[in-house]
Amino acid sequence: MQKVFLISTGTELLLGNTQDSNSVFLSRELGDMGLRVTGKATVGDSKTQIQKAFLYGLDLADIVISSGGLGPTFDDLTKTVASEVMGCKLELRSEEEARLREYFSRNQRKMPEINIKQAMFPPEAEVLKNSRGSAPGMYLAKNNKLIILLPGPPHEMQVMFKNEVKPRLERDYAVYMQRVVRRTIKVLGPGESRVEELLGELMTDTHGCSMALLATDGEIHIKLTAEGKDEIASQKILDELTEAIKGKLARHIFAYDDETLPQRVAGLLKEQGKQLAVAESCTGGMLGSFITDIPGSSEYFWGGAITYSNAAKIKILGVSPATLEEHGAVSRQTAAEMAQGIRQVSGADLGLSITGIAGPDGGSEAKPVGLVYIGLASADDCQVKELRYVGPRDAIRKLTTRSALDILRR
Ligand code: ATP
Ligand code: MG
Repeated sequence: MQKVFLISTGTELLLGNTQDSNSVFLSRELGDMGLRVTGKATVGDSKTQIQKAFLYGLDLADIVISSGGLGPTFDDLTKTVASEVMGCKLELRSEEEARLREYFSRNQRKMPEINIKQAMFPPEAEVLKNSRGSAPGMYLAKNNKLIILLPGPPHEMQVMFKNEVKPRLERDYAVYMQRVVRRTIKVLGPGESRVEELLGELMTDTHGCSMALLATDGEIHIKLTAEGKDEIASQKILDELTEAIKGKLARHIFAYDDETLPQRVAGLLKEQGKQLAVAESCTGGMLGSFITDIPGSSEYFWGGAITYSNAAKIKILGVSPATLEEHGAVSRQTAAEMAQGIRQVSGADLGLSITGIAGPDGGSEAKPVGLVYIGLASADDCQVKELRYVGPRDAIRKLTTRSALDILRR
């Protein structure tokens, strides 16, 4: 197995101004190709730091991939330093110079002469085209070591990796690559330990796959990975394990892989040809925001009302003052009237409501922080679900929003 070392360059990454997303992207992509990232470093725009990082990376790994510092300015040092470390000299490449001049004239700009740096490469190197910017990357193999230089801006780096680097790695390292097949099974409802309990012996007898549980914002993601030379065989193992997991978790599974809960719900509403309207209190618009994150949501989403105060609940949704007086704003009855109210006002098929105590203040013994009611009204029915969450305000609001969407799915 070939080892890869990653270097992210840029003083802004050390100052905490920019988060290093490039190495995260590269780790994932390389992992998917069956190459193993065994270390990484983040260094500032300093010649000695970059040099030390390359020497260290080449000592530990077979392949070193860096991002950043390919621009034309004085602080863009990666190519000079990396070439030096590999014992190579930079030379002007006339075809690259022509391409660079053409890039600038196409964008109606005169090329500043310092940009000529971007047309200099060691003769041994392959130039990686940058379809999104002016700085080309570099692929340099020598003495059984390989260095790959990518630009810093994530959108440039990602396209270059996919179009220019991947095919070359597949050309040169195919014999070392394992085929990796992944699947994520997304679960909502039971907590992490309950999911483990439901999975039972599948937690340990994973048919030769690796399995990891990841809890994020109330969702549990079961991450499955199968690795081997034979992609079809790995896929089959993964399918078998998925079926076994489905048998254990059934309706708690809401989506697979990249599909999100709002996307899943969007699909269902479209399938059923139903329109939805929402009335939110403690989530203050988060439900509407989650729904409208999906492009094209106007097809099934009427809109909604943020009725935070009692006055808004009365005036906009027609919640009865007597209900609020007798049961309070956070109650089964109010949730029901909110759902029915927004359904009536909108004329939508479904009215979905949320009322709850997000905290940190405002709880009592009878109605603690985290008590939430979610109402769903349709033409002939109105159901209310009571939930009790523990946690900070933000977590309670997110969990509530997810639960409200989840009710639409069930
Ligand atoms: P340019 O020609 O734009 O100068 P470059 O290859 O020299 O490209 P940098 O100057 O290092 O790249 O970075 C350009 C931009 O990309 C900066 O805004 C920087 O914050 C961002 N960037 C650089 N490295 C990373 C990283 N590892 N993760 C996320 N963003 C990054
Ligand atoms: Mg730069």
